[in-house]
Amino acid sequence: MLLATGAEDVEPDLPDLPDAIRRGLVRYCPICDGYEARGQRIAVIGPGARGLGEAAFIARTYSRDVTLLTLGALTEDEAARAAAAGVQVERHPIAALEIEGGRIAAIRTGDGRVLRFDTLYSALGLRLRSEFALSLGAKHDGTGALLVDDHGRTSVPGLYAAGAIVRGLDQIVVAMGHAAVAATDIHNRCAEPTEDEADGPA
Ligand SMILES: Cc1cc2nc3c(=O)[nH]c(=O)nc-3n(C[C@H](O)[C@H](O)[C@H](O)COP(=O)(O)OP(=O)(O)OC[C@H]3O[C@@H](n4cnc5c(N)ncnc54)[C@H](O)[C@@H]3O)c2cc1C
Repeated sequence: MLLATGAEDVEPDLPDLPDAIRRGLVRYCPICDGYEARGQRIAVIGPGARGLGEAAFIARTYSRDVTLLTLGALTEDEAARAAAAGVQVERHPIAALEIEGGRIAAIRTGDGRVLRFDTLYSALGLRLRSEFALSLGAKHDGTGALLVDDHGRTSVPGLYAAGAIVRGLDQIVVAMGHAAVAATDIHNRCAEPTEDEADGPA
């Protein structure tokens, strides 16, 4: 069995968000499409080290105007790293998104201020759909990302995994590579007799 059930993004709990995602106004993957936001005013929403890492990556690569919406406190060390990376920090919770003319016109903070950005990236992480493999006892990295060998085999005999549920880079070409490797191994193993075919395939 080859499991390729993928992952879903954890979405920020903001009013009007589903509409903004559908319209591509909220983005999830700067390494995939950050070049489209080059030089823009960019907000990154995400807590602590995760949000900071993404904001610093964008500030280093695509824009010098990056604000981290932290959803809470940063540690002193994180605040210092944000400053060193040139990332501005907004600690107040977000109350609303205002969408106008196909773009996010403003973000309203809980204390009544209005912030303006061109693009909003969400850095809230992924929920991996690997529960089935975990229920069978498949080894994982602690976050639910499955550990596989060079052939895409999980630690459960006969169970392979490919794509976003496997520990590593979450990209389409990587998922396709996993699947090709696993499918080839499965194909090769199917040439051997199975339990139900004691004499092997005809
Ligand atoms: C907004 C966004 C933008 C992205 N941009 C890029 C990009 O530009 N370039 C890039 O390389 N990558 C990008 N990615 C990442 C890319 O989408 C993933 O790496 C890739 O889709 C992983 O493939 P997958 O087959 O593992 O999972 P998925 O593509 O998520 O496919 C999993 C499939 O399994 C199905 N499924 C789940 N559970 C079950 C079940 N129990 N039974 C049956 N079916 C089930 C799901 O419905 C889904 O169809 C982006 C991701 C997002 C969310």
